Amino acid sequence: MLFNFDNSYAKQLEGFYSSCQSAVVPTPKLIKLNSELASQLNLNIESSTISDQLKIFSGNESPQGSLPLAQVYSGHQFGGFSPQLGDGRALLLGEVLDENGQRFDIQLKGSGRTPYSRGGDGKAGLGPVLREYILSEAMYALGVPTTRALAAVTTGEKIMREMPIPGAVLTRVASSHIRIGTFQYFASRGEVDKVRQLANYTIARHYPELMQSDNPYLNLLEAVCDAQALLVSKWMLIGFVHGVMNTDNMTISGETIDYGPCAFIDSYDPAAVYSSIDKQGRYALQNQPPIAQWNLTRLAEALLSLIDSDQEHAVELATKVLNEFPEKYSKHWLQGMCCKLGINNAQESDSALVNDLLALMHEYHVDYTLLFSDLAKVLSGDKEAAHKHFANVMTFEQWLVRWHDRLAHEGMTSDDSVVLMSQVNPIYIPRNHKVEEAIESAMKNEDYTKFEALLTVLTQPYQQQAGKDEYTQPAPKEFGAYKTFCGT
Ligand code: AMP
Ligand code: MG
Repeated sequence: MLFNFDNSYAKQLEGFYSSCQSAVVPTPKLIKLNSELASQLNLNIESSTISDQLKIFSGNESPQGSLPLAQVYSGHQFGGFSPQLGDGRALLLGEVLDENGQRFDIQLKGSGRTPYSRGGDGKAGLGPVLREYILSEAMYALGVPTTRALAAVTTGEKIMREMPIPGAVLTRVASSHIRIGTFQYFASRGEVDKVRQLANYTIARHYPELMQSDNPYLNLLEAVCDAQALLVSKWMLIGFVHGVMNTDNMTISGETIDYGPCAFIDSYDPAAVYSSIDKQGRYALQNQPPIAQWNLTRLAEALLSLIDSDQEHAVELATKVLNEFPEKYSKHWLQGMCCKLGINNAQESDSALVNDLLALMHEYHVDYTLLFSDLAKVLSGDKEAAHKHFANVMTFEQWLVRWHDRLAHEGMTSDDSVVLMSQVNPIYIPRNHKVEEAIESAMKNEDYTKFEALLTVLTQPYQQQAGKDEYTQPAPKEFGAYKTFCGT
């Protein structure tokens, strides 16, 4: 048996999903099995053959003990409410406990139609599957809470998008797939008992310490606000643009989910948008913290009737929690930015130092990731690399003086600061052109060498790796403006 399933969602939340089966596909081939994650999840890989694994990860056979189901949810998509969404191209096979007893969902993505597919085919293309594999595993290695990739297979069939493309299935692992939208679905239908049932389940699964509290539902809102403030600060610190922060794509656990039109910035631009459909820039880099708060307000609305029977009082309590979000976020972010500059303990006054650097980076189109590596070199006595980013070195030099003063005030040695900086400033991120190269070579020639090479580099993003300089550089000019698409 590959998985030791323990299916709490299927057993405890009847009425919150539809049971269904995955589609049968012609000739599945294994692209990648994440053996490190498999062993962390206690999977019995050794006792299963490749052919068994292929059957399971392609959806051709339901693994023993699974109870495949599609979860129902709603969601605000680009600000507008869609009452009826759900897993339209995904199936939850079941849950497993990892070596520490922590519970994880095992989900197939791209495994065929479900009752929530609407007009879609329920399938996934090879490109988006590889993209999600690379991005989610890179985020994990960077230390950002995220869903992970356990396996990727091609199905041997062509699916229709703008043109026929190879079909694929990703096996996704998440601490759960409960979204803000899951709460919205039942709240919007006035099914308060179901909202309560879901909240109780969620608290027991993700925030068990709240079970005994006086107002567990208000505390649940608070806990999700905390988790999202931390998560979004981590995105901002590494320059990650999620691209489609709809409420159905925001988890209650605080993990990043749904790697569709996401990308990492190269040159620093607060207005960076990559998604081909985000014409207004709703989900631009700088909008991510306020959008997170907007989404959390939708969660608060869904929980209101549980928070207090007096609606006015419930609104008062929830508003107080929501209003704390910007400060919680800013604290995480400023502390993180200070660490990126080799400063151990952030002071409120540091925000000017940080924001002035960002303004300079914006003005001179400086590569966000490279600059922090090059700032560490300044502390080791080499200014040349950092200088190269600025057409006008004078203003940057003035900033450097302020930075040195601040470091002296902190009382840290340069060596200490360099160590701190190397722990938080990645050398390797999934550079957009490298991701595209890996996908292109897989799509055109079934050649996964670049995909594997990129994954290997991204597994150790903070470690200098010999001979891997090409992965540190931004895209060449001819790569042009990067556009990404919803992962269908
Ligand atoms: P997303 O924007 O990727 O989060 O997807 C939004 C909704 O569309 C979700 O409910 C998905 O399940 C559904 N969806 C996306 N692509 C497909 C597809 N190819 N077939 C069926 N449903 C889909
Ligand atoms: Mg989604």
